[in-house]
Amino acid sequence: MVDFRLSEEQKMLQQLARDFVDEEIIPNASKWDLESIYPLEAIKNASDIGLLTVKIPEKYGGGGMGSIEDVIISEEIGRGDPGFATAAGSTILASYPIITGGTEEQKEKYLSKTANGVIASYCVTEPNAGSDVRGIKTEAVRDGDEYIINGSKMWITGAGHAEWFFVLAYTNKKAGYNGMSGFIIDADSEGIELGKKEMNMGQRCSDTRSVTFTDVRVPIENLIGGRENDGWINAMKAFDHSRPAISSHAVGNARGAMEEALKYSKERETMGKPIFNHQSISFMIADMATKIEAARLLCWKAASVLDNGNRNTLEAAHAKRFAADTCMEVTTDAVQVFGGYGYSEEYPVARRMRGAKVYQIFEGTSQIQRLIISRELSSK
Ligand SMILES: Cc1cc2nc3c(=O)[nH]c(=O)nc-3n(C[C@H](O)[C@H](O)[C@H](O)COP(=O)(O)OP(=O)(O)OC[C@H]3O[C@@H](n4cnc5c(N)ncnc54)[C@H](O)[C@@H]3O)c2cc1C
Repeated sequence: MVDFRLSEEQKMLQQLARDFVDEEIIPNASKWDLESIYPLEAIKNASDIGLLTVKIPEKYGGGGMGSIEDVIISEEIGRGDPGFATAAGSTILASYPIITGGTEEQKEKYLSKTANGVIASYCVTEPNAGSDVRGIKTEAVRDGDEYIINGSKMWITGAGHAEWFFVLAYTNKKAGYNGMSGFIIDADSEGIELGKKEMNMGQRCSDTRSVTFTDVRVPIENLIGGRENDGWINAMKAFDHSRPAISSHAVGNARGAMEEALKYSKERETMGKPIFNHQSISFMIADMATKIEAARLLCWKAASVLDNGNRNTLEAAHAKRFAADTCMEVTTDAVQVFGGYGYSEEYPVARRMRGAKVYQIFEGTSQIQRLIISRELSSK
């Protein structure tokens, strides 16, 4: 049976997220973006009321809920502001390799930090290796009870505020994907250098920068799962968990733009009537609503497959590709509905459109999602 109704508990969570967004995100989002302010306090507040930690198991202080709850909340957070959503999302992304593959000690130590609002970052991308993860150069060499890590990571969300990093590095370069390992590296370790905060097209409240590791010594207890060469699998499994939520951020951003366009179209008059009464505008808004609905259902399906204990790589790629492209289309059309005012920062749609683009780039570009979808289809 397919049932799209939410339980009472899920409706309460959705309302909690809506209220938080209306009170803490929407009134501040423009200032955060235009002045590149990292919303640390709001992230902590969201974490305190459990909005960012639903998928951390209860025994480590999280909500112990599933991906469905995660996507419901994530859509609301994306409606608040895409930059806030990304800034707030770096920690759970870094935590997934520990949830799926960490030792009990690692879970106890680091997942309870996540549950307490400590910021973390997921460090995989490098200056010359984004889509092509195999091309990373970071290496970890065992030295007694430690590993020595050398390498540079690029585009790392939250790095300027993180207390620890998930880092993917080669432990056996010759083995390719099967020679990568995941490490937890405390941000105050000697030998770590942060780059300057990047000035990005959108989502400017989020913090993105390079992280360079020079002879950083990491105790062997911080090798994720205590096993070498499992890193690739763990890093990719993280995306099965995170992509439904990131896709829901995109759905939420698109929904926010659509709601703003709908409201404006009923107020703005041209040629003697509200622009909503010009069919080319009302049909544009109707198309936005249909695309958002379809994208949401893909997110819910990707979440539901995972919650039912199945691999959701295909469904998560469908959701990510479609929601990202929908978000770009809908926010662009929303700017069109606002006319000249849409092009100015006076109204929120410009910020939403600038913030939409990166959904087609990070967590696997739209081209890479198509690659995953076609590979999954051909292997069935
Ligand atoms: C704001 C922001 C935040 C980010 N946060 C993080 C983070 O927290 N942690 C992290 O590890 N990374 C992060 N990233 C990095 C992001 O995941 C990469 O930018 C992304 O994976 C693309 O890699 P690239 O930039 O090297 O582009 P490339 O891989 O060089 O791709 C360039 C273009 O070629 C296309 N392309 C590449 N290979 C193929 C192929 N095989 N088939 C078809 N098309 C292809 C791509 O789709 C793209 O259009 C972030 C990026 C941004 C912009």
